[in-house]
Amino acid sequence: CGIVGYIGHQEAYSILIKGLHRLEYRGYDSAGVAIINPDYRLNIYKHTGKVAELESFCRAKDISGTIGIAHTRWATHGEPSDINAHPHSSTNGRIAIVHNGTIENYSILKQALQQHGCEFNSQTDTEVIVKLIEYIQNENNCTLLDAVREALHQIVGAYAIAVIDSDNPDTIITARKSSPLVIGIGEGETFIASDASPIIEYTNKVVYLRDNEIAIITRNRPLKVITTDNEESKIDIQTLRMS
Ligand code: GLU
Repeated sequence: CGIVGYIGHQEAYSILIKGLHRLEYRGYDSAGVAIINPDYRLNIYKHTGKVAELESFCRAKDISGTIGIAHTRWATHGEPSDINAHPHSSTNGRIAIVHNGTIENYSILKQALQQHGCEFNSQTDTEVIVKLIEYIQNENNCTLLDAVREALHQIVGAYAIAVIDSDNPDTIITARKSSPLVIGIGEGETFIASDASPIIEYTNKVVYLRDNEIAIITRNRPLKVITTDNEESKIDIQTLRMS
């Protein structure tokens, strides 16, 4: 039941894994990571059990890349299994999502997407979000941000999400409603997490995302935050006191 994300100049994998360990106290049944490698390929690795099991699963795999998202899952929709673990991905294999929370209208959305020929791999409510984003993007030929924003309008429920797209390898999009999400602002690198514990060793500058806000985190650009109604939000950077 935790999210971690990283974009910057360091290799993402070890930062993501360390972050997942910091969030272990929240409880979980499975864990996973998605990283875009230097050849713009999205690699997803996920496994039931402890973060340590994910680490052994990732041994000898391609874990290169400086942008990634990671998750510890506390199953609500679909049993704990490798397939139901996050990240979940789009049919074209380019978009990955991690999600904490629950989507109340997921079965209606799932049926509608299935009627349009969309196939599902998992039993989760989360897979519906990423397949909906992909569907909207294909239908409207719009940007990932517009597709995420429109998807969030159609979703009813509680969520903290983070999305990456190998076609946009310099951006993480993250959003929340009723589930916590913190952004850590470093020097040329940005962190996201469910709480500040994975972030404080890297930076004490944090932004607590508010309900119905979407943050656009782009490499080498200042953080941008909008509302789901597409209004620019004021960014309130807080300085955490290191103890
Ligand atoms: N509802 C999602 C699932 O069951 C996310 C659960 C969580 O918050 O970890 O996969």
